[in-house]
Amino acid sequence: MRVGSHDVDALIDEVSVNCSCSRTHSVGLKGIEVVNGHAGETVLRLIGENCCAERVAVAVDRVTLGVLGGEVAGALSSSGIEVKLVEVTKADEANVSAVERSLAGTEFAVAVGGGTVIDVCKLASYRSGKPFVSVPTALSHDGISSPVASIWLGDRPYRTSVLAREPMAVVADISVLRGSPRRLAAAGVGDLLAKVTALKDWELGKRYGGEEVCEAAYQLEVMAIKRALEFVRGGLREHEKLLEGLVFSGLAMSLVGSSRPASGSEHLISHYIDGKGKSRALHGEQVALGTVAMALYHSEVNDMWWKEERLGWRRIRRVMEEVGLPVTLAEIGLNEEDGVGAIVNAADIRPERFTVLHMRRPSEQEAMSLLRRTGIC
Ligand SMILES: [Zn+2]
Ligand SMILES: [Zn+2]
Repeated sequence: MRVGSHDVDALIDEVSVNCSCSRTHSVGLKGIEVVNGHAGETVLRLIGENCCAERVAVAVDRVTLGVLGGEVAGALSSSGIEVKLVEVTKADEANVSAVERSLAGTEFAVAVGGGTVIDVCKLASYRSGKPFVSVPTALSHDGISSPVASIWLGDRPYRTSVLAREPMAVVADISVLRGSPRRLAAAGVGDLLAKVTALKDWELGKRYGGEEVCEAAYQLEVMAIKRALEFVRGGLREHEKLLEGLVFSGLAMSLVGSSRPASGSEHLISHYIDGKGKSRALHGEQVALGTVAMALYHSEVNDMWWKEERLGWRRIRRVMEEVGLPVTLAEIGLNEEDGVGAIVNAADIRPERFTVLHMRRPSEQEAMSLLRRTGIC
């Protein structure tokens, strides 16, 4: 399979061949199709190549139906496939069940949308044992091709990362992605900047929790960070680069079967903020803010922190300013107290996911100092 100029199969072979970890690496993602228009026909061809579906469920939301969902559904029905359109409104159990119900009697699912639609469809198709194709309408997060769904479960105050299965293929219509709001692409950059701290948290999990760090997944995340920085350097015009970065991160998660390579203390802070329900920010915007604070914290308490200056908190913050990501709590509707509470308490959300916040829980005073010194508040 190819992503931009990269042969991803060769890449996985290359990164896995000398992998020191004990896992057997396999990835369910069979193809990434980057197209310029004609996404519907491409989905139709992929379905034809992989099964002989007569009925397909197409998950959309109100916006993505108009952007690309209608086109995909139209291409399928005009070739005689019975299409069941299902509208997703929230990434919660009720919506997962609704998509599962519409998957009954179909052989295939297609998710056309951003994070919510793809996450819901991912879990529903996993539970139903049906393959699905991911058709992203924006590049705002790395869930496009990952096996992990982020869902509101029961009355838990924050989203839970649920292991599902990655899509069989991703169809990326580059003209649609280029036309999507700049804020969404900036959020995608934010979700990739988060790997700077997520990877270091993973290393701490190895040192203090005996976790295994998969070198192949680690290297994919390093490449993902590089792609994000290249996308920024190119003036946010080469969306293929951002797509590559997000797909690499999804592949890293597929290799280890969890979000571990992609999600550390900065994601826990974001989940904590989600739980308070006050923030107006996107996932990628929140985790990027968490990354700045955690990068400073790591640099002070973690002797394994990056030596490269370009991965330090100052440079991360500068990149965020360049792409128009929020760099203060006020910009996302939060105050200092909210930020301090998130940093001090985020570790409780997932006690088993060892991060720098578990290694050494900051006091309120220290959390406040991190926020002030980084200019976050
Ligand atoms: Zn994320
Ligand atoms: Zn490995």
